[in-house]
This record gives sequence, C-alpha cells and structure tokens, in this order.
Amino acid sequence: MVVDSLRRVNAFHAFKIRKFVSSIELKQESRRPDQWRSFGASCLNTTHTSNGRNGREVLREVVSRSLDQEPQPEYDVVVVGSGIGGLSAAAMLCYYGYKVAVFESHYSAGGAAHGFSIRKKSVGEFHFDTGPSFFSGLNPNVESKNSNPLRTILDTIGESVECIPYTTFGLHFPEGNFLHTPKFGTMEGVLGQVSGESGVEQWADVMRSMKPLEVAVAALPTAALRFDAGALLTTAPFLPKFATIGNPFASFKLTSPFKDILDESNLRDQFARNWFDLLCFCLSGLPANGTITAEMAMMLGEFYDKNAVMDCPKGGAKKIVEALVRGIEKYGGEIYFNSHVEQITVQNGRANGIKIRTNKRNGGTEVKASKAVLSNLSVWDLYGSDILSKDAWPSSKRVDKLHTPIGKSFMHLHVGFRATKQEIQQLQAHYMYIEDWNRGVEAEDNAVLLSIPSVHDDSLAPPGYAVLHIYTPATEDFSRWKDLERTSEEYHLLKEERSQYLWKVLEKIIPDIRERAVVSKVGTPITHKRFLRRHMGSYGPAIQAGKGAFPFPGTDIKGLLVCGDSCFPGIGVPAVAGSGLLAANAVSLDSLMPQIKLLNKMMSK
Ligand SMILES: Cc1cc2nc3c(=O)[nH]c(=O)nc-3n(C[C@H](O)[C@H](O)[C@H](O)COP(=O)(O)OP(=O)(O)OC[C@H]3O[C@@H](n4cnc5c(N)ncnc54)[C@H](O)[C@@H]3O)c2cc1C
Repeated sequence: MVVDSLRRVNAFHAFKIRKFVSSIELKQESRRPDQWRSFGASCLNTTHTSNGRNGREVLREVVSRSLDQEPQPEYDVVVVGSGIGGLSAAAMLCYYGYKVAVFESHYSAGGAAHGFSIRKKSVGEFHFDTGPSFFSGLNPNVESKNSNPLRTILDTIGESVECIPYTTFGLHFPEGNFLHTPKFGTMEGVLGQVSGESGVEQWADVMRSMKPLEVAVAALPTAALRFDAGALLTTAPFLPKFATIGNPFASFKLTSPFKDILDESNLRDQFARNWFDLLCFCLSGLPANGTITAEMAMMLGEFYDKNAVMDCPKGGAKKIVEALVRGIEKYGGEIYFNSHVEQITVQNGRANGIKIRTNKRNGGTEVKASKAVLSNLSVWDLYGSDILSKDAWPSSKRVDKLHTPIGKSFMHLHVGFRATKQEIQQLQAHYMYIEDWNRGVEAEDNAVLLSIPSVHDDSLAPPGYAVLHIYTPATEDFSRWKDLERTSEEYHLLKEERSQYLWKVLEKIIPDIRERAVVSKVGTPITHKRFLRRHMGSYGPAIQAGKGAFPFPGTDIKGLLVCGDSCFPGIGVPAVAGSGLLAANAVSLDSLMPQIKLLNKMMSK
C-alpha cells in the first residue's frame, strides 16, 4: 500500500505536534489552513512524560497514504466521516460506480477503529488499537457468512485482512478464573464447571430457541436490503429460504429484547444469566433486557458454533480500515483527512453538499454532492451541532433526535511492556473481568475488558515487548469530566485517579505490570470526545430493544443519509458496516443492477 502511495504522491504532508501533555490528545484545530487537502499522511513527533516516567518518547501516527490533491467541486456522494460506517458505505458506493469523496476531520481514517503508535527511544515502536479488538468472520481463509456485512464488503471490493485465528480468552469472575472456549455451555466448559448439569441443560434450551433465529438472520443478508421499489428484486431470491425456517413467525422475535428469549427458555441459572448480560453489554452497551435479539442471534452463531474461531487482524484493527481505504481508492474514490466538515449545505429542502473548515476567516471550501450527502456522525453530533442549519430541520424533530438515550464513555489505558515470548504465551489475547455481578454489568468500575493482541501478533511491539489496551466498557460518566480543561492540573489529577482502577485490575492478570511498563497512555471521555468527535465521548446510542427505533439510512432531509452506530441495531464493527451497506443501497436506483450482480455472486457461492 505504501509503495502504491509513493507512486501517486507528490509530497507527504507531515505536521508536528507542538505540545503533548501526557495523553494522546492532539490539537487538530491548530493545523495550517492548507493541511486539510492532504490525503492524510501525518507524522507526529513529540516529547512527553507518561505516567510519571520521564524520557523522550516519540508518538507517531503513520497513515496509509498522502496525496497532494484538492477535492473536485462536485461528487455524486460526499461522505462525512471515515469511521467503519462511512468507509463501508464509501467502499460499496465506489464499487457500484458512484463518484465518491470521504472527508474526515481526523488525521487518519477509522474513527473508533483507528490505531496509533508510540516510539520509545532505544526500545522501538509500539502499535496500539484505540477501540475494537474482538472480531470474527474476517479471516479470508475461512468461508464467509452472508450475515457478516463487513466480510461481504471486503469480499466485494476484493480486499482482505490477514487474520490469526484463535479460540480462547480469559474470564476473571467472582466465581474464579476460567478459559472461555466455544464449549462454554457444555459440561467441560465454564458453565459446566460453575453451574453443573442443570445450568448446561438450561443453556442448551436457550441455544435451541435461538437456532431458528440464527437461520432467519442468515436467510436475508443486509446486502440484499434497500429502501425503494428495487427491494422487490433484491430480496425476492432470498425469500424462499424463509420457508426453510421451522417457524417463520419466530423471526418476529428478532426485534424483541434478548431477555424475552431467556425468559421463554426458562433460563434460571444465575451464572448463565449474568454471562448473557455481559455478552449483551459488550455487544450493544446494554444488558439482555435492552439488547435486540437479532444481534445475539448473529453473535451466538459466531461464538458457539463448534468450529467457531475469533480473528486477530495482523497489524491491528487499523488493517481493516486500510483494507477499506484500499478498496475505495481502487474503485476511484477519494479520502481527504484533516478535513473537518463544518456544514452540510441544504438548498430547497435538499442536502446538496458540504462546507469544509479551512480557516476561520474565509468560511471554508464548498464541495457539492449531486446525489447525496452521507453522514457518519453520531445522532447528537449531526442534529445537535451547527453542521445542519437550524432552518433545514424543524426544531421539534431535532429535539426528538437529541433525546436518543446516550451510552456512557470510557477510561482507557494503553501499555507497552516488557515480556519474553514465553511470558506472552502464558497470557490470553483477551480477558473479561467482573468484580461483582450483583452491581450489574453496567455499574461503574465493575466490568473491565483487556486486550493483549501481542499474544497472537508479534508485529505490534519490538522483540521482548508487548502491547495491551485495558478499558472500562462504556461505564464512565461524562459528567465528572465535562467542565475540565484538557490542559488543567485538575484534569490530569482526575485522569491519574480514574486510571488507577484499570491498573489495579491489570495487576490481577500481570502482577508486576507497573515495573514492566515502558510506555503508557491514559485516555478519558475527553480524549474520546476529542478524537472521535463524539458528543460526550459516548460509546453510542443506548436504544433499548422494543423501546425505540433506529433510523436506518433515511432522514427527513432529502439527499441526506446516515450511517454508523446511531443508525443500526448494535454498536460494533459488523453493525456499523451493515449500516454503511444499507446507506450505499439507499442513494439511488443506479445501484440496483450492480447490487443484483453482487447478490447473484453471493448466492452462487
Ligand atoms: C474501546 C472500544 C472498544 C470496542 N470494541 C469493539 C470490538 O471488540 N468489536 C467490535 O465489533 N466493535 C467494538 N467497538 C465498537 C466499534 O469500534 C464502533 O461501533 C465503530 O467503530 C463505530 O463506527 P462508526 O462508523 O459509527 O463511527 P466512528 O468510529 O465514531 O467514526 C466517525 C468518524 O467521523 C469523523 N467525524 C465526526 N465529525 C466530523 C466532521 N464534522 N467532519 C469530518 N469528520 C467527522 C470522526 O472523526 C470519526 O472518524 C469498540 C468501540 C470502542 C470505543
């Protein structure tokens, strides 16, 4: 990819961070006005003090490509934001033949899935993921499932991500420490060890109830859906598959809370209930009573199939982002980084372009979109900021949108640490930690997720070292952070204080981690808000199954479509990729023929 870039580039744009204060927060607003038009290679060099450790460390963000090129005055579709949702939509749109440009505020693509690196002098470079690390169904050597939208997109654009398969991860629970395997619900699995035969029998009942729902989810792939008359043609070939579902009415259960299924299956075993709550929470930010059954149908199929494997993308989650970017560019699309969209322009009730912030004086450069503007912003950032003019949208509707329940934020800790190959092999790539089930999985400082990708991937740290990312999964309240200045002493003290819980949990898994650590970075809800341009640093909408509807791609403004985790049930990479697919299929009937061709190919597999 880099070689390919070099062929096309005239110059790499690099900028240096002037100041770096013990965190990965970057001062994007301070860039030079001309920097927005670079195709994004940025190289950040900085000195900082990390977690009380003095010394020169260099943080570098290497972005895949740079092109000294200005955007054209008009595209068919302009995509605002390059999260997995925006990139997925752009990739499909380019494949369908639309002329597309993506504009990203950040200096690199991927949103929550972007990566960053820290160079420690005399040690080398450490590569970290900022967000997702749990993946399945991506491995190009494993047959793809039509129910996995991200894999559908990657296969469609002819891109793949090298994955290291694995089957186990660690659980640190009040009941003890366990190894999770696809056999979790059997007598030899964790449930058998904790709850015995009765728990295992009840689990089997739940799985039996879920089977037809898994089939229903797989029967109609997201790629076949669209929101115009063309849907008759794209969904028709898949409908006979529904006839094979034992009880076709079962599929109506897909939109109800997963707890209903647990109740109907008469699941009484408390440990199994707790485990489902945690799985649901990791998936959607809500326990079983708020998580839509369709998400669990897809997940349980991937987790507990007898051949289930998880995928560790070699090089980190950013390799998924890079694969999407490659696909977009291969099909003629363009991506512009450091390009904060300050306005989506609306004329005669139709979204017809964007204004990019260049500098405060000239008010920005305009780019037109002849068919659609596609927003990858969260619901609060789209309707609650000035990106949409107040007259474009009746205020009552705006207020409605802004009432979308909001998921909490994160405390993150990234650590590069000393560990021999043998030591690393004693660890698991993931751990889930719960302190006290009685407090609920969503309680503050109670659930923690830990990812140590170096267990499978030795490309992320210098030899003799490893990287990890530990975080509280959407349980950190923004309110204690909201009034703090990022540069204030108060902020740094709070950051230090709130990260201690993560260090404490980490010590339960790697007791001498503090001595082993050579680089560390703490991220807060402020970091999250700032880097992902996310209102209150939120994980995403906490829409309870059965109590609220996701908007899917359409909006009340003609020509304005949405994708990302505010638009599709389930926060997570597969869900946002699905939202991107739906949005791409919703632009115009021009996509109908290429979509049908794609579906024929999928069906002939
Ligand atoms: C810590 C953490 C762990 C996670 N773990 C997993 C996991 O293991 N597995 C999994 O499947 N999912 C996981 N997720 C969830 C998953 O990463 C997200 O759901 C997904 O990446 C969100 O994608 P998105 O497209 O909605 O948008 P985002 O990632 O939020 O991207 C939106 C993009 O839009 C840009 N933007 C915003 N405003 C503007 C503007 N005005 N102009 C230009 N650009 C703008 C932002 O800079 C950003 O790049 C995790 C998330 C986090 C935070």
